[in-house]
Amino acid sequence: MGYPFKAIENKWQKRWHEAKLYKTDLLKTKNKCYTLVMFIYPSSDKLHLGHWFNYGPTDTWARFRRLRGYNVFEPMGFDSFGLPAENYAIKSGGHPHDITEENISVIRQQLKAMGAMYDWDMQVITSHKDYYKWTQWVFLQLYKAGLAYRAKAPVNWCPSCNTVLANEQVTSDGECERCGHLVIKKNLTQWFFKITDYADRLLAGLADLDWPERTKLMQQNWIGRSTGVEINFKLESDEQEIIRVFTTRPDTLYGVTYMVLAPEHPLVEKITTSGQKKQVDEYIKISSRQSEIERTSTIREKTGVFTGAFAVNPVNGERVPIWIADYVLVTYGTGAVMAVPGHDERDFEFATKYHLPVKKVILQPGTNEDVPLSEAYTEPGIMINSGQFTGLPSKEGIGKISDWMTAEGFGKRKVNYKWIPPGILPVTFRRI
Ligand SMILES: [Zn+2]
Repeated sequence: MGYPFKAIENKWQKRWHEAKLYKTDLLKTKNKCYTLVMFIYPSSDKLHLGHWFNYGPTDTWARFRRLRGYNVFEPMGFDSFGLPAENYAIKSGGHPHDITEENISVIRQQLKAMGAMYDWDMQVITSHKDYYKWTQWVFLQLYKAGLAYRAKAPVNWCPSCNTVLANEQVTSDGECERCGHLVIKKNLTQWFFKITDYADRLLAGLADLDWPERTKLMQQNWIGRSTGVEINFKLESDEQEIIRVFTTRPDTLYGVTYMVLAPEHPLVEKITTSGQKKQVDEYIKISSRQSEIERTSTIREKTGVFTGAFAVNPVNGERVPIWIADYVLVTYGTGAVMAVPGHDERDFEFATKYHLPVKKVILQPGTNEDVPLSEAYTEPGIMINSGQFTGLPSKEGIGKISDWMTAEGFGKRKVNYKWIPPGILPVTFRRI
């Protein structure tokens, strides 16, 4: 005989609908349970198995809670603005509005047929005016409060589609997901939310959250708070021009033997000498095709090119060659780093590869100055070859040298956050 699902399920679903079984009384305050899932992208006219893989367990849990007497509110919505809808409209040749509405109505029918207990009187459709007037309102409040503003930053750009792409829309080969064209990095003016104003509050709030430790740690690393010093290096050829770097190890400042700028750093074009121009341009072209994840991978061999220009180390007046390398990101910190190969593993690897000098300024306990470094020494020790700070324990030196630089006016203490230029985060954090 089998199970005549069509007859049985239609009958009961109709009955549930008529009885308003899944209607939630939001005024009831006892035993409240709010079950929220990620809203669907109606970028196709059907659900796929992955949707139900995501929604099934949540709906089952919500049903369980309801059977246990909870007043469960489980709404559903459609994240119906943006690139997925646009892509689907291009592919199917219709108007995005009409197609989106059709898709939504088919998907809603499918979810009902699954027997999911969503309260369909409470749905959210982000492409509807009554919804997006609020996103616009929120944006305006952020703007008025000075928390939304424009700045230049590199984005993924498809020259063929003439559009910005989210990281998820760039394939692992660095190609545009829509057309297969090679994606480049382009500096564009875009909107930013100043969410780092809240980074410290976010970090403090993590302590009280009932979340798995692993998840908390991920959040912490994502915010990536570090305290250090921001230092100004002057250009040798032009004293008005400054390269700003951030370091958590100012105690190693006397060991700087070169500097590295991100290939997209605005100064690169200006400082590159004519003799190095060809090599630098070539390198920029290649690195613009790499994703940030590839560029910062710890297993990837570091590459770089000399710009021909020099900076001056403010603490000892030494001239320092300026390189560009794609492991430095213009979106992280200041887009420039001072390199201390004696006391940083990555810098040591780079210096060895390109025959740059390695200078020892922190003495490993139990050794002496004359023992050359066979690898970077990254632990604390006694400061050597460090001018007036020579002889200080490096931990103490960090504070002393920070105060001295602040007093001399070429550095200041600073708190830095990961992945983001000081104080800003790009607005484009779309998901697919
Ligand atoms: Zn494209």
